[in-house]
Amino acid sequence: MRIARVSHQEAITYGIVDEGELVVLKGDPMFVGFDTTGERIPLAEVTLLAPVIPRSKIVAIARNYRDHAAELGNEVPAEPMLFFKPNTSVVGPNDHIVLPRQSERIDFEGEVAAVIGRVAKNVPRESALDYVFGYTIANDVTARDLQKSDGQWARAKGFDTSCPLGPAIETEFDPSAEVWIETRVNGEVKQRGLLGDMVYDVAEIVAYASAAFTLLPGDVILTGTPAGVGPFVAGDVVEVEVTGLGILRNTARDA
Ligand code: MG
Repeated sequence: MRIARVSHQEAITYGIVDEGELVVLKGDPMFVGFDTTGERIPLAEVTLLAPVIPRSKIVAIARNYRDHAAELGNEVPAEPMLFFKPNTSVVGPNDHIVLPRQSERIDFEGEVAAVIGRVAKNVPRESALDYVFGYTIANDVTARDLQKSDGQWARAKGFDTSCPLGPAIETEFDPSAEVWIETRVNGEVKQRGLLGDMVYDVAEIVAYASAAFTLLPGDVILTGTPAGVGPFVAGDVVEVEVTGLGILRNTARDA
């Protein structure tokens, strides 16, 4: 099932994407299930929003593809290397990425995002995927200059609009299958990687993170980016495409 969160007639609505239509749900399916209202709306009449606003946090993993770690001169960490992005960093498909004045170098990082569906604390790796509601696409937008100068990554990876999510949540997606992720800037391919090349897979990241802090329904896990990260500037159109998840497209503008 493909779940979208949309704006329609000035209300926020959840629905199941079915061909070119949205089958309207009674509420957020993560909390109230998949009961439908009986209404169907043409997708052309809605505005897609970020499919989830993380209830408490976005947990992201750094250097989770060997070729990306190497391109920035880093080793793959001996244990998963986690950081947070705030929920205020989230924007939806087609929203602007607003380039912050305090940075002169903003990079794209195309990533797959896992959306947590159940309270998770100390979950074992073997059952960790039971806590995942579904998957969507993320861009872990990064102020590369601030990442180097600040030491801590709060400003570099936490600024407003630094976490585009979307276009929808796919509940049947299997990240262990042979799935490609590709990032394009103005149509030119910049990143292309296989999800199977992750150093730590989704189950390992969820288990490892949940040993440290409680994951809540609606929290989001970013799974790392493959090689090819690079800068973009105002006016550029950044697209991240994942087989089976669609395309997340955002245009950059100056603050
Ligand atoms: Mg990243």
